[in-house]
Amino acid sequence: MLYQTEKSIAIAAVVAAAALCEQVRSHRPPDAITKSDRSPVTIADFGAQALICHAIAQAFPTDAIVAEENATLLRQPEMGDVLQQVTSVVQSQNPDATPDAVLDWIDRGTGSVSPRFWTLDPIDGTKGFLRGGQYAVALALIEAGTVQLGVMACPALEVDGDRGVVFVAVRGQGTIRLHGGATKPLRVNQSPSTGKSRVVESVEASHGNRSRQHQIAEALGLTDPPVQLDSLAKYGIVAQGDAALYLRLPWSRTPDYRENIWDHAAGAIVVEEAGGRVSDMDGKPLEFSKSPKLLHNRGIVASNGSIHDAVLAAIQRTDSLD
Ligand code: AMP
Ligand code: MG
Repeated sequence: MLYQTEKSIAIAAVVAAAALCEQVRSHRPPDAITKSDRSPVTIADFGAQALICHAIAQAFPTDAIVAEENATLLRQPEMGDVLQQVTSVVQSQNPDATPDAVLDWIDRGTGSVSPRFWTLDPIDGTKGFLRGGQYAVALALIEAGTVQLGVMACPALEVDGDRGVVFVAVRGQGTIRLHGGATKPLRVNQSPSTGKSRVVESVEASHGNRSRQHQIAEALGLTDPPVQLDSLAKYGIVAQGDAALYLRLPWSRTPDYRENIWDHAAGAIVVEEAGGRVSDMDGKPLEFSKSPKLLHNRGIVASNGSIHDAVLAAIQRTDSLD
């Protein structure tokens, strides 16, 4: 079977990074450092990226990694304390870590889009991570123009009251969910019943046009109240059949915003391999292999498949409302 080595290396790396994140969050909520784009980053984001990039680089030395973070901030002399904190949390998973190694491991993620490359969001939903909400550690392998493998840990997602799941999908081989030592093949819910007949969307109102999203959900007859969740966990909810639709429609006041590939690649294959469908709001496939941004896509529609065409038609009928 294709991609078995990649799959096992990716799962081990993502699970170790998720353990690091949970350890940081349970110890004491980390301080947020503000990046130049004004978004937050924490020692856990840096630590998770260091661990995963190092594991991928060791196993696949010629593969490029396009990751969200870089070590520029941590290399500044006044950030010495923070670098020390990052190093000590990385050491909890990999005793070989030193401050210099950690900087290099993080910067292994500054690669370019290539014929075969990985994309990584060490913590998607950092705002959720800081708030005590959902977050995800997301890694995907893109080759031959397509996402071939996605591994996505959602450490705060619960199954039967027990926290922590990992979603894994390989192109053509289906999606599984790892939880508490058990492996479950996942299928989307093609005929959602009450309680599952709903749309899932971001907690952050600026990340999706809620009024339009709700209007579309209503037009589709998805009558249960929308669920708001941080991070790629939204894709997991659709893949495991707990929601029929994930909508992320742009605000017309931010016409230049383009989504990052690491915010969607792992989630998209998890939904597709569970039998669902993923496209932009015009029905075009998401273009993961050309650039770190989805340059030619606006909006995200991830559905159970059966309602996808009706969702796209409803989007065409509605105005942006903002
Ligand atoms: P979520 O947890 O679904 O709200 O998504 C978190 C991701 O939203 C972050 O990783 C950011 O890259 C991304 N993001 C930041 N600003 C915007 C925006 N204006 N519209 C959509 N997504 C955004
Ligand atoms: Mg992100």
